[in-house]
Amino acid sequence: MTITTAIVGYGNLGRSAETLIKAQPDLELFGIFSRRSELDTNTPVYPVDSINDYADKIDVLYLCLGSATDIPEQAPAFAKNFTTVDTYDNHKRLPAHYATMDAAAKESGNVSIIATGWDPGLFSLNRVIGASVFPEPQQNTFWGRGLSQGHSNAIRGVEGVKYGVQYTIPREDAIEAAKAGNGADIDSKDAHLRQCWIVADEADHDRITETIVNMPDYFVGYKTEVHFIGEEEFLRDHQGLPHGGRVITSGQLGDTKSTVEFVLDLESNPDFTASVLVAYGRAAARLKADGQTGAFTVLEVPPYLLSTKSLDELIAQDL
Ligand code: NDP
Repeated sequence: MTITTAIVGYGNLGRSAETLIKAQPDLELFGIFSRRSELDTNTPVYPVDSINDYADKIDVLYLCLGSATDIPEQAPAFAKNFTTVDTYDNHKRLPAHYATMDAAAKESGNVSIIATGWDPGLFSLNRVIGASVFPEPQQNTFWGRGLSQGHSNAIRGVEGVKYGVQYTIPREDAIEAAKAGNGADIDSKDAHLRQCWIVADEADHDRITETIVNMPDYFVGYKTEVHFIGEEEFLRDHQGLPHGGRVITSGQLGDTKSTVEFVLDLESNPDFTASVLVAYGRAAARLKADGQTGAFTVLEVPPYLLSTKSLDELIAQDL
C-alpha cells in the first residue's frame, strides 16, 4: 500500500523529512504546509490555514514544528483532522501532550504517535528495554558530542558575539565508569563539558567569556570552555548539526555482570530525527488501518510496524 504523507513546518526537521519521505518506497509526499508562502523547494507548498481542505487526501501528517510553542499550541487541532506523528521533546510536559493528543485523536478516530525521534524516541525505548532486563539496573544517558541549539542561541545573544556555537561533550571517564557499572554517583551536569566556539573582536573576549560561564541555567554548574576563532575557521568547521549520545545500562545478573549500550553518532541531528519520524509514520498509517485510535508513544508501537517488510518476512528472516 502507498501511504500519502504531508509535512507541516519547513525548518531543519521538515527539510530532512522531505528528502527522507521521497527515499522510501511505500511513502509519497503530497505537499508541505507552512506559515510562509515562499519556500525554497520543488515540493508543492500550501498555506497551513488551508490544511483541512486536504484532509481526505493525506494518510499521515508529519508535524515538523518547534516543540517550545508550536506543538503545544497547534498539534491537537491537527490531530482532530489527521493521523499525525511528532518529535515533541519537552520531557517534563510529555504526559500532558500525551493526554491532549489522545483526546483529540480519539475524538476523530485518528492515530497520533508522539515524541518520536531519538531523545525522546529511540533513547526512551532503549532506557525501558535496558532497565527491564536487570533486576537492579544502573542506567546513565550521555549526550554528545553534539551541537546544542538552545545553548548556541544563548551565546549568540551575548553582546559582541558575531558567530557562536556550543557543543555538549560527554566526559570519557564518566562513560567508562557507567560501562563498568559504577554510574550511580555520576552527576549529569558534571559528566558533560560545554564547549563554545565564538567569533568576536579581541577587545570583547574577556567580557564575553565571563558572561557565558556565569549564565544561569545554561552554563553555571557545568565545566565550560570558551574558544575564540577567526570567521573563516568558523564558517569552515562549525556549520553542521552533529549530535548523538548513548544510553548505558548495567547490572548484576545472578553471579555475573552485564552491560547494554545503545549509541548514536549522528552527522546531522535533523536528518536522523526525521528518519525516525518518517518510519513511525508508516506505523501510524498501519495502526489507523487496523482500526486503532488515540495517542501512542514509541513504547506502545510494535517494532515490526516500522518496517517496510511484513511481520511474516521479518519472522522468517530475523528470528
Ligand atoms: P526549526 O526552528 O528549524 O523549525 C521550526 C519551525 O519554524 C518550522 O516548522 C517552520 O515553520 C519555522 N521556520 C523554520 N525556519 C524558518 C525561517 N527561516 N523563518 C521563519 N520560520 C521558520 O526547528 P527544527 O526543525 O530544527 O526542530 C523542530 C523540533 O524538533 C524542535 O523544536 C525539537 O524540539 C524537535 N527535535 C526533537 C528531537 C528528538 O529526538 N525527539 C531531536 C531534534 C529536534 P513554518 O514552515 O510554518 O514557518
